[in-house]
Amino acid sequence: MRPAREIELATGLARVEERIARACGAAGRDRDDVTLIVVTKTYPAEDVRLLAGLGVRDFAENKDQEAAAKAAALADLPLTWHFVGQLQTNKARSVAGYADFVHSVDRVRLVDALSRAVAQRERAPLSCLIQVALEKESGQGAGRGGVAPDEVQELAAALSAAPGLRPAGLMTVAPLAGAYAGSPGAAFERLMEIARDLRGVDPAANMVSAGMSADLEEAIVAGATHVRVGSAVLGVRPALG
Ligand SMILES: *Cc1c(COP(=O)(O)O)cnc(C)c1O
Repeated sequence: MRPAREIELATGLARVEERIARACGAAGRDRDDVTLIVVTKTYPAEDVRLLAGLGVRDFAENKDQEAAAKAAALADLPLTWHFVGQLQTNKARSVAGYADFVHSVDRVRLVDALSRAVAQRERAPLSCLIQVALEKESGQGAGRGGVAPDEVQELAAALSAAPGLRPAGLMTVAPLAGAYAGSPGAAFERLMEIARDLRGVDPAANMVSAGMSADLEEAIVAGATHVRVGSAVLGVRPALG
């Protein structure tokens, strides 16, 4: 008998697939141009295994400790791991041990730490996306969690120069503050402009990681190549205590 959890996950996944297909249709894009990354934070490795059995290959986590444990428990599966959370430099070594993509590069010090960490691993270069905090364009959202749009070129240059790292593109989360609050479509259009500027300098840095459970349609219409979806597939996470 099929376990109840597998049926739940299959149902969530089918709903999200349907939303992605419909958004691609509305935008005149090929379904193959958008990669679904399932964000499995707070959910057990067994859920990842079930989703892999349903055909998902790309998974994301936002905390190193949890991600490292899941990647180790699932090392027998051919999965692609994306790290999407704020990353401390002292975790760079661990993340470089299992991640294929880091979406949350937001400072030169982290570029340096990842580059040093990758020198000690025997696998392909680590693909790095710059996280853009669109709220910083209007002077809000100080602190970590992304760079202001006018800092992207400098960080991209640092990535290009860093041994072992590959500049892969841009990531954003629709802002809750600033000019784009409540307008994810406008936020993602702005990200696409910044992404076009980046591609002008580095044509291979063509990933655009945008869109979550609440706004994946807006992201796909704007041109996202990767959507990061958690709760719409796995269920609503309990509030962090
Ligand atoms: C949790 C998370 C997601 C997925 O969010 P949902 O709303 O559950 O789809 C996407 N991106 C990042 C960076 C996240 O931390």
